[in-house]
Amino acid sequence: MKYDFAAIESKWQKYWDEHRTFHAENDYTKPKYYALVEFPYPSGEGLHVGHPRPYTAMDIVARKRRMQGYNVLFPMGWDAFGLPTENYAIEHKIHPAIVTERNVARFRNQLKMLGLSFDWEREVNTTDPNYFKWTQWIFLKLFKAGLAYKKEMNVNWCTHCKVVLANEEVVNGTCERCHGEVIHKVKNQWMLKITDYAQKLLDDLDSVDYFEKIKTAQVNWIGRSTGAEVTFKTTLGDELLIYTTRCDTLFGATYMVISPEHPLIEKWADKLGNMDEVRKYQAEAARKSDFDRTEMNKDKTGVRLDGVMAINRKRQGNTDIHFRLCSDELRHGRDYGGSRARYARLGVREKVRSAYYRGR
Ligand SMILES: [Zn+2]
Repeated sequence: MKYDFAAIESKWQKYWDEHRTFHAENDYTKPKYYALVEFPYPSGEGLHVGHPRPYTAMDIVARKRRMQGYNVLFPMGWDAFGLPTENYAIEHKIHPAIVTERNVARFRNQLKMLGLSFDWEREVNTTDPNYFKWTQWIFLKLFKAGLAYKKEMNVNWCTHCKVVLANEEVVNGTCERCHGEVIHKVKNQWMLKITDYAQKLLDDLDSVDYFEKIKTAQVNWIGRSTGAEVTFKTTLGDELLIYTTRCDTLFGATYMVISPEHPLIEKWADKLGNMDEVRKYQAEAARKSDFDRTEMNKDKTGVRLDGVMAINRKRQGNTDIHFRLCSDELRHGRDYGGSRARYARLGVREKVRSAYYRGR
């Protein structure tokens, strides 16, 4: 027997629509079940395979719960503000609201064709003023509570998209989306003070039913660690601060690393024997993206600073430890949330992984 999907599927999709089969009533006699999936960004291309994957999984759960007698709320919506839409609108001289409306219609139609059991009467759209008046309301609440603040930040800036990119969106110094040139730019940015909640976020991971590897990823992202700041004297008199979670390893430190942008380098310039080499290295490092400079990059490079040492009082006989510039150090002066880029880093032979590399 041939499965005539065009006839069978459209018949049932029509029936579900007409009978409001998946509508969540405000019925308080039944147990409640809220099935929520991440709302898609309605791009001009329509759905890609990454969309139906989680929607199908959650659809199975929602359908099973309905059969078990639950009052299931399974909504769909559109995370519809987006730069691709704005750029498309500029390029084709169409109002972004029209572009968004078209894209949403396409997505909705495709999701209906997949037979997913969303309650379409509860569709939300982030570009709807009735929706975003609430996100604005939330923002004002955060602002009044001191949890939203402005800060000058060195950011990745795509010269083509004219937008700030996350480190992950910069690939080989270019924009992941348009391959345009990415430069560093100081911008006044709105920040949310999520760090105030680091401990609560960690504690509450105990109360959720996540896979262990997801929990570990969350812990790394939150990046909270308990450690100590330790001051090291240098042979040129200036002091450097490091952060460590392992004070018991201080005695073994054999070198100290600072970023190529560290302000002490300028101060030390006329005392360093290899300033030409240092300048050359600084110029190379400036051209690298932050991503290339992090631990993801396995090719470590560096220049030893000739003429200055740090004094390790924990080491027998006050052995001096030499300095290196290292471009895989976090960019100095840039805020990584925890702002740990201001620290120098201690090294023990080659294999040191500092806690402050992670996440924030
Ligand atoms: Zn771009």
